[in-house]
Amino acid sequence: MNEYNINALAIPLFLVFMLAEYGLLRLKGQKLHRLNDSIASLSMGMLLLISDALLKAYTFAVFIYLFDQHRLFEFSPYAPVTWLLFFFAVDFCYYWFHRCAHQFNFLWGAHVGHHQSEEYNLTTALRQSAFQYAFSWVFYLPLALLGCPPQVFLVLFILLKLYQFWLHTQLIGKIPYIEGIFSTPSSHRVHHAKNPIYIDKNYGGTLVIWDRLFGSWQPELTDEPCHYGTSLPLDTLNPVKANLQHWWMLAKDTAATRSGADKLRLWFKPTGWRPTDCSNKDATHPVPLQKTGCGNRKKYDPHTSPAIKCYAALSMLMTFYLCFAFIFLSPGLSSMQLVLGSGLIVISLICVNGLLENKLGYLAVESLRLPLALYFGVSLWAPLALAFTGLMQTL
Ligand SMILES: [Zn+2]
Repeated sequence: MNEYNINALAIPLFLVFMLAEYGLLRLKGQKLHRLNDSIASLSMGMLLLISDALLKAYTFAVFIYLFDQHRLFEFSPYAPVTWLLFFFAVDFCYYWFHRCAHQFNFLWGAHVGHHQSEEYNLTTALRQSAFQYAFSWVFYLPLALLGCPPQVFLVLFILLKLYQFWLHTQLIGKIPYIEGIFSTPSSHRVHHAKNPIYIDKNYGGTLVIWDRLFGSWQPELTDEPCHYGTSLPLDTLNPVKANLQHWWMLAKDTAATRSGADKLRLWFKPTGWRPTDCSNKDATHPVPLQKTGCGNRKKYDPHTSPAIKCYAALSMLMTFYLCFAFIFLSPGLSSMQLVLGSGLIVISLICVNGLLENKLGYLAVESLRLPLALYFGVSLWAPLALAFTGLMQTL
């Protein structure tokens, strides 16, 4: 199993759940999905899966090193108390990473992508910033020092992530008895809302007891329906721009401010903080950025022809396959294959979202990308089939 990345198996599984949610909502007469928003969210999810596939092995190696060389206590991975204790500990670390990701300018840049969707459905769950894991893993290192066995950490971390998937739906209302204890779709809707009363609330991953302990708890109110997205609209479907939006604004302020100290400290200031000489000059961005909250507003929804929508949906299905095969086989691919494969998938996602913004110039890129993607897809088919045959025989 070592030469395959089984995280890829989550891709078809999530797809089935998303289609089921869409079908159930349509049966109830509710239309809470937009093709362009869903494709943009799924594109962000695929960028994250690629960066995870490239990063995780190295960051987990640091966890293992600290555990092996510097752990303070011994915990057996076979003792139920170990699992119980570290279930709370992993969730606690997630709470603080998530809270810091909202509170500090440079970390918000690594998390804002998850909040940019103006819709709220299961595709939003997969919409994650590609660089989030590059920062979040550091918050879990104290667990290695405390003696959390790496295999226990890995399982609990994956379970925490899987748990969060079902929270991103409007299909489920408040759940009796567990609201205020466990994170639920209702409490997480609040977290994603841009209404001023809901800004920076309910950071909990599995448990929201941390929010109640540390003053960030806010139940969903019946007379305050959630409006989703960020205070500052993204106004693009491009997944690369979405990932860099906040950092790009910080970089522009770094270049523009005349204060040498502000050039550095603006990255570590609370989210939205800007040097005075930048905020005074720039009336287009409210101060503080992102964290003021706002009510309902017109959604970013560029109109496209049915033919483009159809092409985009088919292109996205193909990119799903490419991404799945690429991530699954990634541990066995050469550095060159990893670079070319990642590049091709990123270009595919930029193109499909560009077409959905009616930027028809991307059709010229498509004429080159499509044959390359077909060639890449076909070349991955044989090793993929071989891998699955081997896995089936093992089982
Ligand atoms: Zn968040």
